[in-house]
Amino acid sequence: MKWEGRRKSKNFEDRRGGNTGKVVAGGGLIGIIAIVFHLLSGGDSQEIMQMVSDQMLQRQDGTQIELTEEDRRLGDFVATVLADTEDVWHQAFNERGMSFREPKLILFRDAVQSACGGASANSGPFYCPADESVYMDLSFFDILQSRFGAKGGDFAIAYVIAHEVGHHVQHQLGILKEVHQIRSRLSETDGNRVHVAMELQADFYAGMWAHHIDDYLSSQDIDQALSAAAAVGNDAIQKRTQGYVVAESFTHGSSAQRTEWFTRGYKSGKMEDGDTFAALLQ
Ligand SMILES: [Zn+2]
Repeated sequence: MKWEGRRKSKNFEDRRGGNTGKVVAGGGLIGIIAIVFHLLSGGDSQEIMQMVSDQMLQRQDGTQIELTEEDRRLGDFVATVLADTEDVWHQAFNERGMSFREPKLILFRDAVQSACGGASANSGPFYCPADESVYMDLSFFDILQSRFGAKGGDFAIAYVIAHEVGHHVQHQLGILKEVHQIRSRLSETDGNRVHVAMELQADFYAGMWAHHIDDYLSSQDIDQALSAAAAVGNDAIQKRTQGYVVAESFTHGSSAQRTEWFTRGYKSGKMEDGDTFAALLQ
């Protein structure tokens, strides 16, 4: 992706250098319906919280971590991708006579406090509707490569940012709230199907974003996005973590579905073609 020297978003906040804030014990991410990648679905949450508190203890002496040149380069990359999503969504909303509210994006290391609760790197990237912010720890992308077989490269990060901003778009359109309400009335299996449709729409929106910045992209970028989308498919994750696949428990869609909806968005570029709810729930 050609990104150097282009506009960087002012909504980007870098908290990787320290001052991660206090993580409330047991805070968890209760109430967020848009947590993206539950990579550690088999993990012990208490163990994770213990890890978070240990990290916080180490941090409480006010130690600042010096960012490396590579850290700063990735920060600039993230801020540029975020700026691109702003441009694309301003245009899409304007075309519909609406105005787009820009989300914030916070990069953190180890642990972070959001309006949706405390989170650690193990939570994976997520969007918090309560403060309209995307939270990401970039170590997630190392795990994606080493444990889930995604191809390397920065564009996997861009795809995830665009997916999370897609949840922000759903939040602004009232879709997140609606999905939350509908799910509470359904059985777990049916509720999961609605959740999958919501996740695949965010993948469509990520593809739609790529469509509009295609001049800056190479076919390698799209390969990386598709590889990341496939790596976070529920069947791929379940195979790695438990050795078998239970389709009814999918909350994010299979690898095939995730790459399909990203590709659909990339080819179409039009919001109205991304009605995954109509396509999948009839
Ligand atoms: Zn998601």
